Amino acid sequence: MRVLTETGFLTMKVITLREGKERSLLRRHPWVFQGSVAKGGGDPGETVRVQSHDGKFLAWAAFSPSSQIRVRAWSFDEAERIDAAFFAGRVRAAVALRRRLGIDSNGVRLIHGEADGLPGLIVDQYDDVLSAQFLSAGTERWKDAIADALVAETGCPYLYERSDSGVRGLEGLPPVTGWLRHPDGPHRATAVTIHENGWKLTLDVAEGHKTGYYLDQRDNRGLFARLVRQLDCRSVLNCYSYTGGFSVAALAGGASEVISVDSSAPALARANAHVTLNGYEASAHVALDADVNGTLRRFIQEGKRFDAIVLDPPKFAPSAAHADRASRAYKDINRLAFKLLNPGGLLLTFSCSGGIGAELFHKIVAGAAMDAAIDGYLLQRLEATADHPTTLTFPEGEYLKGLAIVRKA
Ligand code: SAH
Repeated sequence: MRVLTETGFLTMKVITLREGKERSLLRRHPWVFQGSVAKGGGDPGETVRVQSHDGKFLAWAAFSPSSQIRVRAWSFDEAERIDAAFFAGRVRAAVALRRRLGIDSNGVRLIHGEADGLPGLIVDQYDDVLSAQFLSAGTERWKDAIADALVAETGCPYLYERSDSGVRGLEGLPPVTGWLRHPDGPHRATAVTIHENGWKLTLDVAEGHKTGYYLDQRDNRGLFARLVRQLDCRSVLNCYSYTGGFSVAALAGGASEVISVDSSAPALARANAHVTLNGYEASAHVALDADVNGTLRRFIQEGKRFDAIVLDPPKFAPSAAHADRASRAYKDINRLAFKLLNPGGLLLTFSCSGGIGAELFHKIVAGAAMDAAIDGYLLQRLEATADHPTTLTFPEGEYLKGLAIVRKA
């Protein structure tokens, strides 16, 4: 198909959907699965016009020949052009929202994929460094324009690429890491210090998980510090601690004995460093390089008990297809945690699996408490911080859910 632009006619490739398969795009859901495509194709990341079986415009989208998600929509507006200015506009809007949120931290999620109209793009700002994941063929193709827009719209001169997530393989893309933008002059190290809830936390954009840190738990770490103080929790077990964000929160809340458990030795080394960096006694913290499930079982055998426990495991269910097995794994660790909780104790328990909805997670945790023969007050339902927004049209974006529970005495 030929489209008139300022510079003349442009030939656009067209993707025609099967009859009845236009419904999700009409509801502004940005994905089209392979099975919905009747005909048409394109190069990896190429912009295509998506139309219904009878030729009606549905979206401008990025084509991805090797992904199950064959098409990711950029825009539902036929008059819009997908060019560098388009990406600058999307980045500007995303950054403007974060500024309006008034986040009291220099670690902020700036671009959260589909929610910001940029499917497959994740960008976190850590002080003066941007850390980005380009996870789809479309974002890969527009990487240069997106990188320019990010630097221009944030004023952050340093942009590090962390496109080493496994999901790139599904898009037929190899892993890529390294500086994408770095001004001339002295080399900037990849180590960064951020402040969060009044604490100092360090990370390395080249070495940390994902973009370097888990910003989505910022508010929940703050809440944990407040609850630990309010409920007078002394002994705290932080499971899947990563670099000890919840452990620092526990110490800030007045805890006197904190155990961080994680299977990553570098993350635990950083957790130890965070304790003293924030002015707490090194002796108040123990870092355990171990599997959480086995550690919980061992603690039960040893008769240990805690006043507060955090369970923040990695994604057990990457998709709904894994929900059954993941449900059992969630139930198991929650049951063990309940058994280790003192009467009146606090449990913060999370799932970041897109395949496990909030209702299902609630049921799993309720079942775990039942098996442990204890009851609890549900203090609060928890979610990701507001800089990881979801939109009305993309329920899959709602990945992190949690519960704050107090064990009945
Ligand atoms: N709560 C953390 C983020 C946790 S991310 C924060 O606030 O920053 C999940 C962590 O689980 C990762 O650090 C990973 O190393 C760890 N992990 C994954 N599987 C594990 C296992 N079986 N036992 C212990 N830790 C595990």
